[in-house]
Amino acid sequence: MKLVIVSLASLASMVMAQNATGTSSSMFPSASPAWLSDVVPLQGNAQSYPTGPVPTGPFSGTINLTGYPTTWATPPTNSPQVQNAINAINWGLVPNSTVRSASSNGNLNFGGYDSANDPDCWWSATTCTSPKHQGVPTDIVNCPIPGTWGLTYDDGPLTSDGGQYAEPNLYDFLANNGNQKADLFYIGSNVITAPLAAQRALADGHTLCVHTWSHPPMTTKQNAEVVAEFYWTLHAIKEVTGVTPKCWRPPYGDVDDRVRAIAAQMGMQTIIWDEDTDDWNMPGSGGGNLPPSTVDGYFEGWIQARQNGTDNVSGHIVLEHELNNATVTMAEKWLPQIQKVFRVVPVSQCHNVTHPYWETAFTYPTDANPNPNTTASGTPSASSSKPSSSSSASTTTSAASTLTVSSALIVGLLALSATLF
Ligand SMILES: [Zn+2]
Repeated sequence: MKLVIVSLASLASMVMAQNATGTSSSMFPSASPAWLSDVVPLQGNAQSYPTGPVPTGPFSGTINLTGYPTTWATPPTNSPQVQNAINAINWGLVPNSTVRSASSNGNLNFGGYDSANDPDCWWSATTCTSPKHQGVPTDIVNCPIPGTWGLTYDDGPLTSDGGQYAEPNLYDFLANNGNQKADLFYIGSNVITAPLAAQRALADGHTLCVHTWSHPPMTTKQNAEVVAEFYWTLHAIKEVTGVTPKCWRPPYGDVDDRVRAIAAQMGMQTIIWDEDTDDWNMPGSGGGNLPPSTVDGYFEGWIQARQNGTDNVSGHIVLEHELNNATVTMAEKWLPQIQKVFRVVPVSQCHNVTHPYWETAFTYPTDANPNPNTTASGTPSASSSKPSSSSSASTTTSAASTLTVSSALIVGLLALSATLF
């Protein structure tokens, strides 16, 4: 009986989360951003979610991209494209929070901020994820069902400076380990540097999300700069892969209600995490001095807590990186172990987001609807090799709202019962 109660509580939060990611929020748009309508996607991309085996190995070809701002710097705000995006935002809905400052080494300045009351829900100051300003969507921080591991990798795609660990190394590993899917939070500057890797990720059925153009602490950026960071990342992902993400993650977790509100009006839900591997801080390109054994210890602890029953309140979203050799090695070392103990899924799945992109031809499996691309007769309704119209993959959103509770209850109970072994 206790198990059922836990399940229903989890399901309630799932349904709430689904609403938070849908169109019920006052700030969240209901259609693809008009200011991206002039972006022409490259040919040859996957046109729908893959229903069978996925590609492995590098995609071949040459992609020449033009018209982008300088990589690894906040883009200019006076371009016509960024101005269009700025003009589409209802600035009356964006809190007038103080733009933060950081020292030259990147450390944020918390001086003068009222952390006790946390008026702007500034994550860096307090790890706040429930906005203080009305209408700003709440962050997604975990997967609702206990035993679920939301698999996420930031900072990709890992470009050629990653050597043998450059993508598609990790994507191959995921494909070869249970056709595992993940959320990939992409840096726009990396997308235009390694576009073939981004195309490969989409073809493999991963969920592409935004991680800004140049990876700054976003609360230190003026409103127009925040828009520019988002705009060019969305532009790059749409031109290279053909999809427009509805999800983003702030670099360093640095977000407040002002940045959240801009992201929401640009069509993106903020996704944080509740378990941090700290893997970026291991020695490696762009890394630090954290001993890998410390990261090993985190994974061991999470596995142990799940196995001994102390981790039974919710599932998780775990922060990992496709940043360098060290982080990819660590990811590949632990995934098989994690898969034995947890139900490993992308965040879109555990939050029942059927359409993680504005392009509705891409219908992703969710906990509530694990087989959305399969008809009643068992025949796939769309395949990755064949373009499909946006109307051919539209079965889930409205139907799922009535099926969510019963289907998810079953999935939730299955997940719980699996932990009893
Ligand atoms: Zn990052």
